[in-house]
Amino acid sequence: MILVTYGEGGEARIGVLQGESIIDARRAVALKLQADGEPRAAVLAAAQVPADMTELLRGGPDALAAVRKGAEYAASADPDPDELVIRPASAVRLLCPIPRPPKIVCVARNYAEHAREAGRELPEIPILFARFPATLVAPGSPVVRPTVSHQLDWEGELAVVIGRGGRHITRAAAMDHVAGYTIFNDVTVRDYQFRVTQYTAGKNFSASGPLGPWLVLADEIADPHDLRITTTVSGEVMQDGSTRDMIFDVPTIIEHISEFVELEPGDVIPTGTPSGVGFTREPPRFLVPGDTVTVEISSLGALENPVVAEELVA
Ligand code: MG
Repeated sequence: MILVTYGEGGEARIGVLQGESIIDARRAVALKLQADGEPRAAVLAAAQVPADMTELLRGGPDALAAVRKGAEYAASADPDPDELVIRPASAVRLLCPIPRPPKIVCVARNYAEHAREAGRELPEIPILFARFPATLVAPGSPVVRPTVSHQLDWEGELAVVIGRGGRHITRAAAMDHVAGYTIFNDVTVRDYQFRVTQYTAGKNFSASGPLGPWLVLADEIADPHDLRITTTVSGEVMQDGSTRDMIFDVPTIIEHISEFVELEPGDVIPTGTPSGVGFTREPPRFLVPGDTVTVEISSLGALENPVVAEELVA
């Protein structure tokens, strides 16, 4: 199952992507309950299907199973178009699949080629930094190039989304804690990253973290360590790698993070970027207003964002 968060009348809603359509999860569950003869279908559906993906993931496998059943029923029931149960995906404005993750814990330098191009040592333990959820950018929404720096650089990454939380999760158990996967573009302001030893500023500019376009649940992905990942800037391929080249795999990363902090449903873990970022190119290539940056990962879709100047946003 592929889940989206989309906007409707200023509110977020959860949907199921099916082919070219999006099925509204709450309305689909209500339709199914109604068909089962439940008189309070709408109320029950609202309780079962929250508006926020983090809340849905907190509901665990039962909540996801209810959504799956509802979506299957709606797809077969051919509901009235006015009830807004099923809509063309193109008619829907996607938000980040997890609009407000409790935590975003990023892995740095997790591909040897990327560490080498940046002239850095290969890590012996995962190097982590935190992102503020407020930096996230929805699919299709603009990444903002700040006024204070023009060294705006892309980093296409596989992002792991936590389903079941926990502390001291072992490598062997780690994959049971994964809800699914999405795409992250860890857009970085390089001079702010390198002029000090801490990543906080360079990795947390406003409107610098595209996430999406959707959450692909783990059972759809045979092997997260065998996915092609490409980043294209205004039509030019800049990164073309494979998640098989990660230095630390997903279980190792989960084990390491959960050693020091409790992972929670909805936490997002971007797993690092392959080689081909802009600042190591000769000459350097940074994102400029008017660019479109697209990160594509096999089986996960494409995350595309325009770049605009901060001066024009204010
Ligand atoms: Mg990164």
